[in-house]
Amino acid sequence: SKQIVPVQSSSKLCVYVRKRPLSKKELAAKGYDVITCLQAKELICHEPKFKVDMSESLENHQFSFDGVFHETEDNDMVYKLSVGPWIPSLVQGNGILTVFAYGQTGSGKTYTMKSVYRQAANDLFSQLKAHAKGSVTVGVSFYDIYKNGVCDLLNQRKKVQALEDNEGVVQLLGLTELPISNETMLTDLVDKGEASRITSINGVHDDSSRSHAILRVTLYSGSQIGGNVEARLSMVDLAGSERACETQTDDKSTRMEGAEINKSLLALKECIRAMDRGAKHLPFRQSKLTQILRDSFMCETSKTVMIATVSPCSEHSNHTLNTLRYADRLK
Ligand code: ADP
Ligand code: MG
Repeated sequence: SKQIVPVQSSSKLCVYVRKRPLSKKELAAKGYDVITCLQAKELICHEPKFKVDMSESLENHQFSFDGVFHETEDNDMVYKLSVGPWIPSLVQGNGILTVFAYGQTGSGKTYTMKSVYRQAANDLFSQLKAHAKGSVTVGVSFYDIYKNGVCDLLNQRKKVQALEDNEGVVQLLGLTELPISNETMLTDLVDKGEASRITSINGVHDDSSRSHAILRVTLYSGSQIGGNVEARLSMVDLAGSERACETQTDDKSTRMEGAEINKSLLALKECIRAMDRGAKHLPFRQSKLTQILRDSFMCETSKTVMIATVSPCSEHSNHTLNTLRYADRLK
């Protein structure tokens, strides 16, 4: 089967697409697969189109990315090729790595990111043990951004103030940051955070698709949190991209959420594009998300990995095309 060779590309940005399998439910509803993965880097999305006589035809849209993961590729493979190659540079105290999962709700963002969290922590600790120059402390925070507010997922969704300091860096005041010394400590914190993410926006169950969740892992020199920042890994499970289209509904709250999500996803695209082009000025002030992640786009040694997740199901082809176009536009 196909192989993507992991190379340390000099590019600051790598964009991947991951296709998940058709679910049992989709199969039962007579959904069919509209994504054909061609080679390691290319795919075609077949968009069902209805003609005037109501017969269905397919329009083909071809895209190419740094890598395409087809539905049989597992979490280990996705991690190993997309994020894994960049962990050594973090351990060497070199810069900032930011990983994003972008896609429609139900396309596999959280499924992918939970595995990235775990495997990144595993690699970080084993490499720190082998290669760390001096003592290093690893600190973890987990928060989400909903509308314009920041909530601490490690402290019962307590509101966190985001304030810009003199250098224009946004500081998250009072955000919980805990030292960890192994992979299990990280996954325990993630489970705790995910639980509070799922249950309590507006008291509505499982509204996680409306917020961006950010797991931040910081390497500090010295034996405690708060020393010099050596390196930082931010892993972002973005709000469901379909929410950005909900700007026409009658429900005002949903409409405003949609507008905010739309704004932040557009700002993210603009910032990533500007970073990749080495632009001097980044439009990070356009959203809370990009403001908070400013250093991910500014730093000389920053690196961004985008994993766009898509459903293969005909029913979702519109949103899938939107996701593919968004990912395509980043380059
Ligand atoms: P999202 O976070 O984008 O809303 P999830 O990660 O919750 O989506 O995935 C939706 C469902 O699909 C979950 O039940 C998940 O286990 C399943 N799923 C997602 N991606 C895959 C995959 N690559 N292989 C198998 N199941 C998957
Ligand atoms: Mg999710």
